Parts: sequence; C-alpha cells; structure tokens
Amino acid sequence: MAMGEHKIFLDGRFLDVQEAKISVFDHGLLYGDGVFEGIRSYNRRIFRLNEHLERMYVGADMIRLAIPYSKSEMQNYIVATLKLNDLSNAYIRVVVTRGVGDLGLDPRKCKKATVFIITDKIALYPEEFYEKGLPIIIAKTERVSPGAIYPGIKSLNYLNSILGKIEAIDAGTNEALMLTKDGDVAECTGDNIFIVKKGVLMTPPHELGTLNGITQKAVMDLAQKRNIKPILKIMKPKEVFAADECFLTGTAAEIIPVTKIDDKVIGDGKPGAVTRLLAADFHELVKVDGIAY
Ligand code: PMP
Repeated sequence: MAMGEHKIFLDGRFLDVQEAKISVFDHGLLYGDGVFEGIRSYNRRIFRLNEHLERMYVGADMIRLAIPYSKSEMQNYIVATLKLNDLSNAYIRVVVTRGVGDLGLDPRKCKKATVFIITDKIALYPEEFYEKGLPIIIAKTERVSPGAIYPGIKSLNYLNSILGKIEAIDAGTNEALMLTKDGDVAECTGDNIFIVKKGVLMTPPHELGTLNGITQKAVMDLAQKRNIKPILKIMKPKEVFAADECFLTGTAAEIIPVTKIDDKVIGDGKPGAVTRLLAADFHELVKVDGIAY
C-alpha cells in the first residue's frame, strides 16, 4: 500500500497519513494525557475487541476523559478504517487524548477529546525469537507504582516503559523485566510475564502495578482448559530464574518464550513444552474468537 492511500481515522474523518495531524496544544502530546489500545485482527476478525474497548473506556472514566463516541460507534469506526485500508491481518491503534487546551495542566480547558485510529500491518519480534526464545534483562528503572498511576489505565504516559526499553536496547536485547520498588516482578515494558514451575502457571497480580493484559487473560483461560492451573503470584526475580519455563504475552508479541534473563538461562534454555502448547492453542483461538468484519 502506498503511503498516500493509507487512511487514518481522525475525529470523524478518514484522512491520508500526511493530512492526519493534531495540534501542538493537544494535551495528549503536551502531557501524555489520554488513553490508548493496541488491538489485532486475524483473518478479518478483531480479537477480543470488546475487552479492549472495555479497558479503554474504564481507563478513560478513571481519568475523567469523556470519549465522544459510544463503544459501538468506536467499533464501527475501527471496522471502517480496516476496510478502507483493506487489511485482513492488522495491528490497530486507537488513541483518545484529552484534546486541545492551553499550556496549563487543567484538563477542563480541553473542550473535546481527540480520537484517532491507525490500522497497519503487524510488526512482530523477529521469528528466530519465537523459535529459540528471547533474551531479556532486568531493568534498574522501577515500574511505576500503582499508587502513582493506577495500572489498569493504559495511558499515553509510557515514559516508564521507554526508560526500561532503553536499558534493554543498551544491553543489546529487546525487552526488559521491570520490578516494583519492593523488588517484586511486575511486567515487561510492553508485555506481561508468566513462569511455569512444576506444571503450575504463574503471573504477577495486577495490584503490583501491571496492566490487566488481554493476552494474559486469554492465556490463563487456555491453560485452565488444558488442566494447567494458572495462579496469580507475587514473585522475586530468583523464582523466575529458577522457573522451568518463562514467556511473555501481549497483543503484538502474542506468546514469546524467554530463555535468558540477564546472564541466567531459564530451564534448559529452550522454549518449554507448556509455552509451546499454549502458543499453539492461542494461534487456534485467534482464528475463531473475534468480531468478523
Ligand atoms: N503490559 C504493558 C505495559 C503493555 O503495554 C502491554 C501491551 N499493551 C501489555 C502488558 C500486554 O497487554 P495486552 O495483552 O492487552 O496487549
């Protein structure tokens, strides 16, 4: 698709990429004041769209941001953007910002939220990491505490994750695991984390400050169907180092095995059996579970 043909939804209109621009006074830009979602479609089905919209509308409510469309209107705009761009397998970014205000923080100065929808082809981690596993590091930057920004709000404030990502890049890896101020395992910069130990699947609870991941939930449901017990557990890094298996989940990454953290090899250093089983189940699930368009 040539750049000029690619349409972006912006505040009720479908615009060329070059025309889709927002004001320098938009508080989404000035203060990261807003919410967003990253959603995927597989073979013309939008995976867990209702869950994504629910998370976004709840988050918006928590920051007292009025989204100018109902969820069903938003769904229609997402579908329209996908169709206009003729995308069957897409990554969908929905962004709602506080809108245009003045240079002060006061959100009441922003009279109308800005809404845009970008649909694009999906860019994953390189295939070799799905086959061989991803090496990650533990970031020195602490995860933002749940008392500072409630983690269920998928806000436009991603600087905490970006600081973690920079550490990962500096270490020559792609992802960083972030810990709470107490040193408990929280999540990665853009993915939730799971470990498998003696057949039990464990992931940190959201009250630690992790996003309530939609892929995380889907994986826990899939595990249950396989009689693998998923539990929410507060863990120190040493428990992760001693795990049989480790993997990350996220809309973009799906399920990606982790085989090394800092200089510690996880399990036998290869993607584990439970990880591979759940990844296969997940790939089947996305074929059938979703809103068709
Ligand atoms: N944690 C963070 C910080 C994220 O940004 C994401 C991706 N949006 C996730 C976890 C995974 O969430 P989901 O499975 O809903 O994409």
